[in-house]
Amino acid sequence: MSTGHDVLDVVGIGIGPANLSLAALLAAESSELNVAFLDRKPHFGWHSGLMLPDAQMQVHYLKDLVTPVDPTNPFSFTAFLVATKRFYRLLVTGRSKVPRREFEQYCRWAAERIPNLRFGVEVREVTWNGELFVVHTDQGVLHARNVVSGTGLVPRLPSFATGHDPQEVFHASTLLDVPRTFAGRRVAVVGGGQSGAEVVHHLLTSPDRPASIVWGTSRSNLLPLDDSPFVDELFVPNYSRYFHGLPAKRRMELVDEQKMASDGVSVSLLEAIYHRLYDLEMLEGEERPCRMLLGHSLTTVDKTPTGLLTRWMPGAGAEVGHEVDVVICATGYRHGLPRPLHGLPRHLREAMCGDDGEITVRPDFSLDWEGPQDRRMYVQNAARHSFGVADPNLSLLAWRSATIANSVLGYERYDVGEVGAVLDWTSSADSDVALTF
Ligand SMILES: Cc1cc2nc3c(=O)[nH]c(=O)nc-3n(C[C@H](O)[C@H](O)[C@H](O)COP(=O)(O)OP(=O)(O)OC[C@H]3O[C@@H](n4cnc5c(N)ncnc54)[C@H](O)[C@@H]3O)c2cc1C
Repeated sequence: MSTGHDVLDVVGIGIGPANLSLAALLAAESSELNVAFLDRKPHFGWHSGLMLPDAQMQVHYLKDLVTPVDPTNPFSFTAFLVATKRFYRLLVTGRSKVPRREFEQYCRWAAERIPNLRFGVEVREVTWNGELFVVHTDQGVLHARNVVSGTGLVPRLPSFATGHDPQEVFHASTLLDVPRTFAGRRVAVVGGGQSGAEVVHHLLTSPDRPASIVWGTSRSNLLPLDDSPFVDELFVPNYSRYFHGLPAKRRMELVDEQKMASDGVSVSLLEAIYHRLYDLEMLEGEERPCRMLLGHSLTTVDKTPTGLLTRWMPGAGAEVGHEVDVVICATGYRHGLPRPLHGLPRHLREAMCGDDGEITVRPDFSLDWEGPQDRRMYVQNAARHSFGVADPNLSLLAWRSATIANSVLGYERYDVGEVGAVLDWTSSADSDVALTF
């Protein structure tokens, strides 16, 4: 890693699908820009701690790194299918959503071919020297006109989980990171979203099946992902642009209201769990292999001589307790200012955040800061309250990268304007009738 004074046009921090998409789009323009993308991992990996064998994608495979904005780009999913000689076979399967392992294979294939990616480099912090961004890594320092943070979300571990042996109480995102055995043990799973459901399905179908499972969620039921057609139009660029123009209070309300469009559980997975429970209980005669605690929040986990006592508080009624050996927290991820940007001076950080602590992001995904306008910090997957429920999702990944690429290049290389849609998203200022959802 150079510690010299070469100035890069763009340093991308993190190489998950978000910055991989940007790198693929900028690769087409590589002669114009001097760029580097950095990731702490030794090679491309995608949520490896939760790469369960049966996990399926929740979006169509054409919503890949590039196709929605640049269908002839050499790093499309279709190009991957052809290069790996599986194009016809995938079509024969009739799948529109591929296994998550296959999406990772695709990203890894792309990461091995896209130029200017450097793995095994950790970014510690980004500072500002009055003229350029200074990107401090474990292997030296880089100077850049623009930085694009694509560091992903940080697993959220509730306070009840702290202070315990990480073999016994851990976040679901690390499930497969170390060898674990569940056979004969009592397991609690906390969280009724997609990850919680995937973990429970995995435990129920594993040869290493626990003696018992308690599955608790504060939600009133195991609620399905709403990907019905009209709701799916929340995941087109028109809606994200419209959303960005709404008042902050309304945006916060909508993110809550639209939660099940992004955080619900795939119906096929709910069916698979239900069928498995039926088979275990009715065909194999097992008694309650999984006890559901709907509308219950786990409040404390206390070590006892024989295990871990979990206490669950219902919305109404008395607390319930279950003794288990392992607690798996499928408790989601934190949004907000990416960690490497915490190194910026306090007044700059404060200027980027609204009263609620959420970062304020411009239409080109750059942070609203006081520095020179030709020096920008862009954020990928950190602005759900600015762009709506599609922000942490893969659906608009290519569109967001194309928007950032256009901004960095200074001209409209990619068409990121309106697309065909059934719903007209307009602000009340433009229209007699404002659609409100
Ligand atoms: C298990 C799981 C499954 C999902 N499945 C779907 C799905 O099917 N469909 C969908 O639309 N969405 C899905 N999502 C949501 C979202 O699409 C993914 O989280 C996606 O990976 C986000 O991409 P990203 O590039 O923003 O972040 P990440 O994939 O998290 O990548 C961030 C990268 O940054 C690197 N990094 C972080 N900090 C540093 C640093 N300081 N220095 C260097 N490198 C750093 C990390 O090593 C990592 O490689 C899923 C999320 C999870 C958790």
